[in-house]
Amino acid sequence: MNSLTKEELEQRLATFVGVDIGDEDLARDPVNETMIRHWCEAMGDNNPVYTDAEAAAASVHGGIVSPPSMLQAWMLPGIEMADPARMRPTRQTELHKLLSDNGYTGVVATNCEQSYHRYLKPGDRLRSTTRIEAVSGEKATALGIGYFINTRETFRDQDGEEVAWQTFRVLKFKPAERPAAAPSEGQSSAPAKPKRLRPPKGHDNGWWWEGIDAGKLLIQKCSGCGELRHPPQPMCAYCRSIKWESIESGGKGLLYSYTVMQYPKFPGYDYPLICALVELSEGTRLVSNVLDCDPGDLQIGMELQLSIEAVDDELMLPVFRPVKRK
Ligand SMILES: [Zn+2]
Repeated sequence: MNSLTKEELEQRLATFVGVDIGDEDLARDPVNETMIRHWCEAMGDNNPVYTDAEAAAASVHGGIVSPPSMLQAWMLPGIEMADPARMRPTRQTELHKLLSDNGYTGVVATNCEQSYHRYLKPGDRLRSTTRIEAVSGEKATALGIGYFINTRETFRDQDGEEVAWQTFRVLKFKPAERPAAAPSEGQSSAPAKPKRLRPPKGHDNGWWWEGIDAGKLLIQKCSGCGELRHPPQPMCAYCRSIKWESIESGGKGLLYSYTVMQYPKFPGYDYPLICALVELSEGTRLVSNVLDCDPGDLQIGMELQLSIEAVDDELMLPVFRPVKRK
């Protein structure tokens, strides 16, 4: 690893801003009905303007069109993406390598935006160019310190007309140091069980976590208008008062929405992991986990009961379980 000083690194990073990552890419295939149908099946999109020629002909489109959000699918190189050795190196590859060589080895995608100027139709042949729009200064994030890289891909059709764009942001970061297991003499040196990610605690929400540590689920209450709010914020969105107090939740809630995490499996979590948006009887909602429940038994609106529990030797979390009816 060749470690540059931060200043040297940032000077090198600046040379990538505004640069096209490589030559223009040409879509492997023209927009076609077969790929559209496969994509719609995979995504569960039943809109007939994508797959039903008759219905599409009678629509404003006058024929089958491609789902706009399928945009990037037309440009992806397919299975060769699984083998980096087969991928053509780009300026983006160089930029990622520069950061990796300086300790920013982690990468995570954080944002993607797309904009469509017109619907794509079978026979259109896309081309695209990708530019590195920005590299941020060094930022502290929950994953570790790192740099955000913004790229913009511009899509044109066979006539050179711009039809869409996509921006993509990734964070290249130094993975935060993990607390090393410190085996004392005579003990097994088996690695400690990995711990869950720590919640970010700051000036505006530290008090809420202190409540959790004390076994209480608190809800912020505006001292001006009495409105309850969560997550904690410094100002009331209704009356703009910055004075607030808190009440303790009774711990009863309803399942407002949920997702079941299957993959990727982060160390320290048990899977399948039920991530739930719980509506408390007081009216505010919070994101939590539902425990001791088969994912197949989840029902929107089901009654849940709070429990504040230690998930490891230093973290208390509010979790919920289904209310069992006798
Ligand atoms: Zn208020």
